[in-house]
Amino acid sequence: MVDMKKWESKKIGVIIEVDYEKCKGYGDCVLACPSSVYELVDGKTTAPNIDDCIQCCACQEACPVNAIKHHSCQ
Ligand code: SF4
Repeated sequence: MVDMKKWESKKIGVIIEVDYEKCKGYGDCVLACPSSVYELVDGKTTAPNIDDCIQCCACQEACPVNAIKHHSCQ
Protein backbone atom coordinates (compact mmCIF):
# COMPACT_ATOMS: atom_id res chain seq x y z
CA MET A 1 0.00 0.00 0.00
CA VAL A 2 1.28 3.44 -0.87
CA ASP A 3 1.93 5.59 2.16
CA MET A 4 1.98 9.21 0.98
CA LYS A 5 2.51 11.99 3.49
CA LYS A 6 1.54 15.48 2.44
CA TRP A 7 2.62 18.96 3.48
CA GLU A 8 0.92 22.06 2.17
CA SER A 9 1.67 25.74 2.45
CA LYS A 10 -1.42 27.79 1.85
CA LYS A 11 0.75 30.87 2.31
CA ILE A 12 2.90 30.24 -0.79
CA GLY A 13 0.80 27.61 -2.57
CA VAL A 14 3.29 24.76 -2.33
CA ILE A 15 2.51 21.07 -1.89
CA ILE A 16 5.11 18.41 -1.11
CA GLU A 17 4.31 14.71 -0.90
CA VAL A 18 6.68 12.04 0.37
CA ASP A 19 6.19 8.33 -0.22
CA TYR A 20 7.02 6.82 3.16
CA GLU A 21 7.34 3.36 1.66
CA LYS A 22 10.26 4.64 -0.44
CA CYS A 23 11.77 7.10 2.07
CA LYS A 24 14.68 5.53 3.94
CA GLY A 25 15.75 8.67 5.77
CA TYR A 26 18.99 9.11 3.85
CA GLY A 27 18.67 12.87 4.36
CA ASP A 28 19.72 13.95 0.88
CA CYS A 29 16.75 16.32 0.79
CA VAL A 30 17.78 17.86 4.11
CA LEU A 31 21.26 18.58 2.73
CA ALA A 32 20.04 19.72 -0.69
CA CYS A 33 17.37 22.15 0.43
CA PRO A 34 18.74 25.73 0.62
CA SER A 35 15.81 26.82 2.78
CA SER A 36 15.98 24.13 5.50
CA VAL A 37 12.46 22.95 4.74
CA TYR A 38 13.12 19.31 5.73
CA GLU A 39 13.84 17.56 9.00
CA LEU A 40 14.33 13.87 9.65
CA VAL A 41 11.96 12.46 12.27
CA ASP A 42 12.22 8.81 13.29
CA GLY A 43 14.08 7.91 10.09
CA LYS A 44 11.70 9.64 7.70
CA THR A 45 11.78 13.08 6.16
CA THR A 46 9.25 15.73 7.09
CA ALA A 47 8.70 19.23 5.69
CA PRO A 48 7.83 21.40 8.69
CA ASN A 49 9.28 24.57 7.17
CA ILE A 50 7.45 24.35 3.86
CA ASP A 51 6.51 28.04 4.10
CA ASP A 52 10.19 28.82 3.40
CA CYS A 53 10.32 26.84 0.13
CA ILE A 54 11.69 28.76 -2.86
CA GLN A 55 10.57 26.04 -5.32
CA CYS A 56 14.06 25.26 -6.60
CA CYS A 57 13.29 21.53 -6.99
CA ALA A 58 16.64 20.44 -5.52
CA CYS A 59 14.95 18.12 -3.03
CA GLN A 60 13.11 16.15 -5.66
CA GLU A 61 16.26 15.81 -7.76
CA ALA A 62 18.41 14.86 -4.76
CA CYS A 63 16.29 11.99 -3.50
CA PRO A 64 17.99 8.71 -4.53
CA VAL A 65 14.76 6.72 -4.28
CA ASN A 66 12.39 9.26 -5.89
CA ALA A 67 10.27 9.51 -2.77
CA ILE A 68 9.57 13.24 -3.10
CA LYS A 69 6.85 14.67 -5.27
CA HIS A 70 7.02 18.47 -5.25
CA HIS A 71 4.01 19.85 -7.06
CA SER A 72 5.94 22.83 -8.42
CA CYS A 73 8.52 20.51 -10.00
CA GLN A 74 6.47 18.16 -12.18
S1 SF4 B 1 11.98 22.94 -3.81
FE1 SF4 B 1 13.97 23.69 -3.04
S2 SF4 B 1 13.46 25.09 -1.36
FE2 SF4 B 1 11.63 23.86 -1.76
S3 SF4 B 1 11.72 22.13 -0.35
FE3 SF4 B 1 12.69 21.46 -2.28
S4 SF4 B 1 14.89 21.92 -2.06
FE4 SF4 B 1 13.78 23.06 -0.46
